[in-house]
Amino acid sequence: MNLSGKIALVTGGSRGIGFSTGKILSENGATVVITGKDAKRLEKATEKIPNSIGIVADIRNTNDVKNVVSKTIEKFGRLDILVNNAGIFPKIKKLHEIDEDEWNEVLDVNLTGQFRFTKEAIPHLQKTSGSIVNISSDAGLKAYQGFNADAYSASKAALIILTKCWALEYSKNKIRVNCICPGVVDTDMTKPFLRTQTDKEFMDNEHPLGRIGQPGEIAKAIMYFVSDDASWTTGAVLAVDGGESIK
Ligand code: NAD
Repeated sequence: MNLSGKIALVTGGSRGIGFSTGKILSENGATVVITGKDAKRLEKATEKIPNSIGIVADIRNTNDVKNVVSKTIEKFGRLDILVNNAGIFPKIKKLHEIDEDEWNEVLDVNLTGQFRFTKEAIPHLQKTSGSIVNISSDAGLKAYQGFNADAYSASKAALIILTKCWALEYSKNKIRVNCICPGVVDTDMTKPFLRTQTDKEFMDNEHPLGRIGQPGEIAKAIMYFVSDDASWTTGAVLAVDGGESIK
């Protein structure tokens, strides 16, 4: 897969799935812009990703988002790939126990944040017939007993339908929009659920393939979607989840 000459923007690229994505896109020839909230963490990440720069941005802040896209265009002159990856996971609580601020925070980052970046990126992706990948979750595909992260599930389900809406609308510009639904992946986000051996075994067994995933396994699927190998694929929703969602 050859991405040389392509400019890719990965939100939340300082760690986890976003970092692995930045790395694989770069290894395949793209120049990569990663964003994140923490300047030091971004700097460390860009040191490990060849041909990359980091731009500090809070996805909740429209001006930060505008700044990322305008700096990318200023520096590289084009945008070919947007990976809407940044996200947060809330404290596990039943719906009647969360307050509105907690609800809004998750939606602001996981849903409105993706809207903000996509809105700014579209005019540039129209010029390059570029590609967008939205990172949803198995939690957007189905309900899980005792999961109790409703705002998260709502944000991820919304991203699935937005993938289809955007794919349809911007197909006339040959922009492809696809979506990945990971199962449980070994990142900072899932650390609280993997503290003990019993927790780990439980999570492994939740997945029919017998283990949780690694960030690189999600990054490879993202790599496929943004490459020419997926040139006739748009509006697709791919579970990369060790089979979790088929149970
Ligand atoms: P992570 O916590 O390791 O990384 C999340 C990234 O998002 C970080 O770089 C963080 O800085 C960034 N981020 C969070 N809030 C932000 C904000 N306000 N502004 C800018 N950046 C912000 O998590 P991860 O597991 O790598 O998750 C990446 C994506 O994959 C998320 O959208 C997550 O919901 C999704 N996902 C993860 C899993 C999993 O099991 N890890 C499963 C399904 C979906």
